[in-house]
Amino acid sequence: MNTSRVFVFKQLKSLLRVKCSSAAPSNDLRRLTSTPGSCPKVCVVGGGPAGFYTAQHLLKAHPAVQVDIYERLPIPFGLVRFGVAPDHPEVKNVINTFTQTAQHERCSFHGNVNVGKDVSVQELQQAYHAVVLSYGAEGNRSLGVPGENLSGVYSAKDFVGWYNGLPSNKDLKADLRSETAVILGQGNVALDVARILLSPLDILKKTDITQPALEALAASRVRRVLIVGRRGPLQVACTIKELREMVNLPGTKPEMVTAEFQGIAEALKDLPRPRKRLTELMLKAAQGSCEGGGAEKRWGFRFLRSPVEILPAPDVSRAAGIRLGINRLEGSGEGARAVPTGEVEDVECGLIISSIGYQSLPIDPAVPFDPRKAIIPNRMGRVQEAAGLYCSGWVKRGPTGVIATTMNDSFDTARSLIQDMETGELDISTAKMGSQAVAPLLLKRGVSPVSFSDWEKIDTEEMKRGKAAGKPREKMLDVAEMLKAAHA
Ligand code: FAD
Repeated sequence: MNTSRVFVFKQLKSLLRVKCSSAAPSNDLRRLTSTPGSCPKVCVVGGGPAGFYTAQHLLKAHPAVQVDIYERLPIPFGLVRFGVAPDHPEVKNVINTFTQTAQHERCSFHGNVNVGKDVSVQELQQAYHAVVLSYGAEGNRSLGVPGENLSGVYSAKDFVGWYNGLPSNKDLKADLRSETAVILGQGNVALDVARILLSPLDILKKTDITQPALEALAASRVRRVLIVGRRGPLQVACTIKELREMVNLPGTKPEMVTAEFQGIAEALKDLPRPRKRLTELMLKAAQGSCEGGGAEKRWGFRFLRSPVEILPAPDVSRAAGIRLGINRLEGSGEGARAVPTGEVEDVECGLIISSIGYQSLPIDPAVPFDPRKAIIPNRMGRVQEAAGLYCSGWVKRGPTGVIATTMNDSFDTARSLIQDMETGELDISTAKMGSQAVAPLLLKRGVSPVSFSDWEKIDTEEMKRGKAAGKPREKMLDVAEMLKAAHA
C-alpha cells in the first residue's frame, strides 16, 4: 500500500468540505492534489437502485468526488418504476432518497444516453477516473421449449414492463382472452403477475398502472392462474409478504392440489423460521382450498412440473395449452434437485407467462462478461482485469434480491472504489474532463441528454395527468413524448 497517498487522502478527507466542481478550488485542495483543481470524477452507468446507491455512498464517503449518472431512458429509477408492482407504492418511496442523491451538488444525472451505443465504455474511461457499471439485467432467460414464440406466450419481464409503462413494451397488447393462465416460476415476480391478473379493478385503478393495461385487465377473461414450479412446496422462491397478499386478495380463492402437500406438515418442525412461516401459510391456503368451486377467481401453485412444449391452437396461430413434464425430487431442502420422471401432463390455457428470471447482457466489447453466469466478473465490485472499471447491482451479482440487497452490494462497490483511491490502485493523479468530454460527443451524435430537472418536468406532467384520472401518476409510454415534455 502506498502510505503517503493514504496520508494525503486522509488529510483531504478531513480538511475538505468544499465543492470540487467550484470554478476556484480552495487552497487546501490545490495543495493536496497533484493536479490543481483535479477532483476524482466517477461515472455510473445505469440510473436504477444500484446506480443511485453507488453514487450516494461515493458522495458521502469522499469529500470531493464528482459523480455523473448516465441512464439509457429519459427517466431515472430503473426497476423501481418499471418492475415494482403498481400496487406496492410504499416500495417506491426509495425514489425520495434517489432524488436527494441526484440533487447533490456533486452529482449530475444524464438521461437518454445509451452507453455502448451513444457513447462507448472506453470513451467514458477516457473522460473519468472510474466507471461503475450498474446497468441491471435487461434480458430474460428463454424457456428453450418448442412453441415459446407463439402468440399468448410472454416473458414476465415484458408483461411487467407492459403494465408498468416501459416504452419498449408499450405495444405488447397482452392477449387476456383465456380463462386459465399459467405462470412458470414461483418467485415474487410470478406472484406480482398473478396478483395483477386477478386483482379487482377498483384496487388497480388507484395505482400508477398504465391506462392501456387497465383497459385490457378490465376486459380480461382470466379467472384462474396456476403458478408452476419445477420443485416442491419446500422450495418455492417467493417471500411471505407476497404469498400473504395472494391469500388475502379479495374475490379470489386458492386452488391447490392437497396431494402435493403430503408430508409437508411433518417437515415443518425442522425448517428455518422464515421458510417455516412461509410453508405454514401455504399449507393453510391449501387446506382452505376450493379445488374447483367457490370464489369467482382462483389461483394455485402446481409443483414438480417443468415446461416441455407450448401446445398450439389447431390453426397454429396461438398457444392453446402447455405440456408439463412431471418431476420427482432428489435430495431435500433448498438444494433438492428436480429430476424428470418421463411422465407428462397437458394443461389447457391460452396465456403463458414465463417468470424464470431476468438476465444481464454484455454492454460493450471493452467490458469483460461471463456468459455462463450472465454477470460482469468481479471481485467486490472491481471488474476483473479491467483497471478503473467497477460494477454494482444485478449486473454484478445476478438478477436476484430486493432493493435492500442491491443497496448493500452497491455500498460495497463504492467502498472498494474509495479504497482503491486511497491505496493508489486507482490513479486519480491526472485531471479528467468528465461530462465536459462526453457532452460534445453526444452532441455530435445527435443525442440530447435529459438532466434531472428535465426529468422533473416529465414527473410534474405525469402527476398532473394522474390527478385528473384519480391515480398517483399517468405514466408517459413513449420516449419521444418524454423528450418533448423534458425539453419543453
Ligand atoms: P435496474 O433497476 O434494472 O436498473 C438498471 C438501470 O440501468 C435501468 O434504469 C436501465 O434503463 C439502465 N440501463 C440499462 N442499460 C443501459 C445502458 N446501456 N446505458 C445506460 N443505462 C442503462 N425489490 C424490492 O425491494 N421490492 C419489490 O417489490 C420489488 N419488486 C420487483 C418486481 C420486479 C418485476 C422485479 C424485476 C424486481 C423487483 N424488485 C423488488 C427488485 C429490485 O427491482 C432490484 O433489486 C433492483 O431494481 C436492481 O437494481 P439495478 O440498479 O441493479 O437494476
